Amino acid sequence: NTPLHELDPDVAAAVDAELHRQQSTLEMIASENFAPLAVMEAQGSVLTNKYAEGYPGRRYYGGCEHVDVVEQIAIDRVKALFGAEHANVQPHSGAQANAAAMFALLQPGDTIMGLNLAHGGHLTHGMKINFSGKLYDVVAYHVGDDGLVDMAEVERLAREHRPKLIVAGWSAYPRQLDFAAFRAVADEVGAHLMVDMAHFAGLVAAGLHPNPVPHAHVVTTTTHKTLGGPRGGVILSTAELAKKINSAVFPGQQGGPLEHVIAAKAVAFKVAASEDFRERQRRTLEGARILAERLVRDDVKAAGVSVLTGGTDVHLVLVDLRDSELDGRQAEDRLHEIGITVNRNAVPNDPRPPMVTSGLRIGTPALATRGFTAEDFAEVADVIAEALMPSYDAAALGARVKALADKHPLYAGLDK
Ligand code: PLP
Repeated sequence: NTPLHELDPDVAAAVDAELHRQQSTLEMIASENFAPLAVMEAQGSVLTNKYAEGYPGRRYYGGCEHVDVVEQIAIDRVKALFGAEHANVQPHSGAQANAAAMFALLQPGDTIMGLNLAHGGHLTHGMKINFSGKLYDVVAYHVGDDGLVDMAEVERLAREHRPKLIVAGWSAYPRQLDFAAFRAVADEVGAHLMVDMAHFAGLVAAGLHPNPVPHAHVVTTTTHKTLGGPRGGVILSTAELAKKINSAVFPGQQGGPLEHVIAAKAVAFKVAASEDFRERQRRTLEGARILAERLVRDDVKAAGVSVLTGGTDVHLVLVDLRDSELDGRQAEDRLHEIGITVNRNAVPNDPRPPMVTSGLRIGTPALATRGFTAEDFAEVADVIAEALMPSYDAAALGARVKALADKHPLYAGLDK
């Protein structure tokens, strides 16, 4: 039982360096967060040793009495958190949750509809070289000139193509979807409605975003974005679809569940039901609103920088650089240079290639978890705005970033 630092100094050094990176920079990738120590403790526990194919009370291995308890707690908590009739907590990731949900509801060759990747959709919503694009006949819908999902197009395409499944959800979209409207379209054409709430599940749990569960046949999510738990996936569904969903996950596409991750998910669901979590999600939203407001000030506008849809209702802002001299990659690099981590992102009808792009996706969940207040978010917004100007002082902006990072220490207990 040699500790990591002695057994494998190479890996230990990289882990330490990553801890330092997280502590000393400002994490604004919209899909990232900081898991609580208790979540990481559960994930780093002896549960990693256990095989448990099957489901609580119906396993194909002996010795599952304790992991059964853990998995049942996770199931009960996530059902209560979102008001779902059924939950499967075994998907190893969001992509696998989506794959299993589609395997449960579709046959290869069936038609699905999803939001186009370049318009904010996810790879698993029908991208050409993803399993979803290879197995199914994909009809993509889009956002209109106003940046909002074009429900008239959704309706028209659904009537024309009669999909078996409509996927509503996004990876890069700053507004809320109308789940009732999606369900009405699905009902009209006899499709199932699947909502992928991976990005906004934490906001839903906090009651700050409409809950898709009452509207959709199936809801999938990751547990590591706004939800703030371990990396992983979950499928929620109606009781009617429970059997199909479970057998699509196991034995359909996975073997043994990661019970250590499921334990960490259970802890995260407990945290997500707390008042502290709700307060953190309120700051997440407030931070994104402040960011959007301060990125549309006049001098920033004059530099060709704007915000898609003019603002945000969620935890992220999409910066539009189509009129800026800076492309997405240069903007990402500039922010990286001063200690802010974001990702470049294609904007609808992007004139620049996908590896370059004309946009940035900037999210606030990780900084909210770190304790950032409205005042801190205003300072971050001003630093970002100044970094996107034609000329900028990297050293001065870097010092302001460092001051913010120092003001909100992260994982202090983990420093060696
Ligand atoms: N669904 C959405 C909407 C996402 O944004 C993502 C990840 O970015 C996923 C699914 C996939 O999750 P994972 O990376 O855990 O496979």
